[in-house]
Amino acid sequence: MSEFDYDLFVIGAGSGGVRAARVAANTGAKVVVAEEYRVGGTCVIRGCVPKKLFVYASRYGKDFSDVENYGWSGEKPSFDWTTLVANKDKEIDRLNGIYIKNLKASDVQILDTRAVVRGPHTVYLLNEEIEVTARTILIATGGAPFVPEFPGHEFTITSNEAFDLPSLPQNMVIVGGGYIAVEFAGIFAGLGVHVTQLYRGEQILRGFDDDLRNNLNDEMVRRGIDIQLNADVKEISQAGSGYRVDLNNGDTIYSDLVMYATGRNPNSQNLGLEKTGVETNRNGAIIVDEFSQTTVPSIYAIGDVTDRVNLTPVAIREGMAFVQTVFHDNPTSVDYENIATAVFSEPELGTVGLTEAQAREKYGEIDIYKSLFKPMKHTISGRDTKTMMKIIVDAKSDRVLGVHIMGPDSGEMAQILGIAVKMGATKADFDATMAIHPTASEELVTMRDKWQPSEV
Ligand code: FAD
Ligand code: NDP
Repeated sequence: MSEFDYDLFVIGAGSGGVRAARVAANTGAKVVVAEEYRVGGTCVIRGCVPKKLFVYASRYGKDFSDVENYGWSGEKPSFDWTTLVANKDKEIDRLNGIYIKNLKASDVQILDTRAVVRGPHTVYLLNEEIEVTARTILIATGGAPFVPEFPGHEFTITSNEAFDLPSLPQNMVIVGGGYIAVEFAGIFAGLGVHVTQLYRGEQILRGFDDDLRNNLNDEMVRRGIDIQLNADVKEISQAGSGYRVDLNNGDTIYSDLVMYATGRNPNSQNLGLEKTGVETNRNGAIIVDEFSQTTVPSIYAIGDVTDRVNLTPVAIREGMAFVQTVFHDNPTSVDYENIATAVFSEPELGTVGLTEAQAREKYGEIDIYKSLFKPMKHTISGRDTKTMMKIIVDAKSDRVLGVHIMGPDSGEMAQILGIAVKMGATKADFDATMAIHPTASEELVTMRDKWQPSEV
């Protein structure tokens, strides 16, 4: 008879928590997971999955216009927002059901409650009003949208609400220049909303390669998005059925809706961490070592609540590494180098490895190969859009340090390129690879001339 009720108590049934719970239970451990909202977490319920469905929806409008020069004609279909939301909800319900089924199939007990930590081995269940004990506690509580404090901040929505708007606005303001702001600007603009995107800095998507940032900005503007840089909100007030948005630069915008996408905070508040001795940093992220162990040895934390790399596959990998470490006595850490990522903007971005600026700083002498071209499909469609591909190479070793793509399916390309970059492929390896013709990605293995700064 164990001295604890459970071997493992997982708080939060999102990407990381679900994977860790299932894999731990498959070792024969007695596992329970508490979820206060919906099993599946941010990614499935109000993140990656519904977002990607909306991205698909938003791209059809332009696709319909593209077909005319290809000989297709007829009345352009109209768009119905409520149909999209209803079908999105159906799919999310289906996935939520699968997640629950899979947890049960692995003998993981699911508790529909908020859970908080009461001690190194004790968790309090708010709905049941009881304490339970576990040998190990795993905190996988994710994050939540952050909206800064300013007069009128209560009038804003975040990505949480954007998925279930009762109707589409005619126009909206989106504040932020990160993944979510850029993706939702593309989604809503593609669905016919006039979008103004406000970003406080010099260029959207800080941290990404500058060529990607600049070219994406151009493309978004081409699609009718009004991107205002060095712009921030001073105050929002109600104006008729919409809002008056006063900016720091003295401008005023009237808008039906204001969405904030200014980052996310780790869900570490009111979790009982301070009393237990689990330390957090200034942003509220739980501090962990390379094995996801917190400052209390029996408590681990994974995923967005630790604010390392806030992506679903990373949370999942951290969950798997945690199980190896704790349940297989095989200390395992996650490798955060060269994580490929995509921004599901319009057009899409796919990227892996170092940006040009990072590579220059780290390696000094680098070679750049880049190409900006009109994709073949749009030579006939007539759509004014460009695809960009860029390869960054260490001049000394010939190793490919980074690849950055803007264009259709670049997320798919980045996933595969991630393998090559992770394996340490050189530019010569890329060159030795036979092209597939005609594709856009053949450009990646046929760029022979180094880019010269004079080609700007
Ligand atoms: P989560 O998935 O957030 O799960 C945490 C769970 O814990 C939640 O279900 C929450 O309800 C529950 N919880 C919190 N506190 C408690 C408590 N005290 N008791 C019980 N339950 C609790 N990532 C990608 O890789 N690709 C994408 O395309 C992508 N798109 C995104 C789009 C949006 C709009 C957003 C917001 C995020 C997106 N992400 C994407 C990020 C991704 O969703 C997160 O990185 C991922 O979900 C993190 O997983 P997690 O397990 O750490 O936490
Ligand atoms: P990001 O951190 O990507 O971007 C936040 C943006 O808000 C930045 O442009 C930031 O500006 C700006 N900002 C921050 N604070 C303020 C403020 N006080 N006032 C005005 N602007 C501010 O966060 P997101 O919310 O876009 O997304 C959260 C995370 O979710 C992402 O970082 C990513 O990890 C994940 N995600 C992944 C996706 C994918 O894989 N495709 C899609 C969506 C989300 P600055 O740069 O100047 O700091």
